[in-house]
Amino acid sequence: MNTLASKVVLVTGASRGIGAAVAHKLAAEGAKVIINYAGGKEAADQTVDSIKQQGGDAIALQADVSKADEVAAMFDAAIAHYGKIDVLVNNAGIMITKLIKDTTDEDFIRQFDINVRGTFNTMREAATKLADKGSVINFSSTQTRVLTPTYGSYVATKGAVEQLTRVFAKEVGARGINVNAVQPGPVNTELFTKGKSQELIDRLNSLNAFNRLGEPEDIAKVVAFLASDDAKWISGQIIGLNGAMA
Ligand code: NDP
Repeated sequence: MNTLASKVVLVTGASRGIGAAVAHKLAAEGAKVIINYAGGKEAADQTVDSIKQQGGDAIALQADVSKADEVAAMFDAAIAHYGKIDVLVNNAGIMITKLIKDTTDEDFIRQFDINVRGTFNTMREAATKLADKGSVINFSSTQTRVLTPTYGSYVATKGAVEQLTRVFAKEVGARGINVNAVQPGPVNTELFTKGKSQELIDRLNSLNAFNRLGEPEDIAKVVAFLASDDAKWISGQIIGLNGAMA
């Protein structure tokens, strides 16, 4: 299937983790893919190389999504290279888990800067620079339903992403652009596994109906559908991808 043939997709934070899997899947569906990264140039270049080896078309563009000027320059460079952007996947994000009493000002600001301001910055560019009939897919988290202690500032950022999603869907619908957010449950990436024992991971696995971690490809397949023309009537929705965890 080539459901995304002729589409150009910008995936933020695509050097590794879920973003890299999304980039691979969308390229396999025929899209030309812009691999955004912040600091991981080597990993981003590897993702581009592996997409090209599979017959796809991709470039890597550096930009810290929390910096408005870098995001604007990235949109302009992507459009200069591919002529347009049809789909924006706002995957870049960080997770700092601490009890609220232990969360520092720096933790709070960094998490909001990347997760919320980053999503805001790219959507503001997309409002005028995304092609008509395009799609935006934002990343929230199933933690906005589960609300585990230590996830306070993280779920606050993802709650903000969900609200931005709902409003933006109404603002850009007249141009035929649909806007949704996904809420992955635990996914097998560094963001989730770092610092967790196998015992803890096993316990968390038991919280979903399939008794396993989500894999980046589980998320990528749904993003590919949401980026396709078949998903056009879905907009302003927040979609759980968590194996019945919540
Ligand atoms: P990873 O930590 O594996 O990867 C994060 C990616 O984001 C990297 O490519 C990184 O690039 C990029 N990134 C980080 N900061 C910035 C920045 N300022 N500007 C641009 N890119 C940046 O995370 P995951 O793949 O696990 O997570 C992806 C998304 O999914 C996040 O939004 C996360 O909140 C969400 N999510 C993840 C879950 C999980 O269990 N893994 C569950 C629910 C939601 P670089 O290396 O260059 O810094």
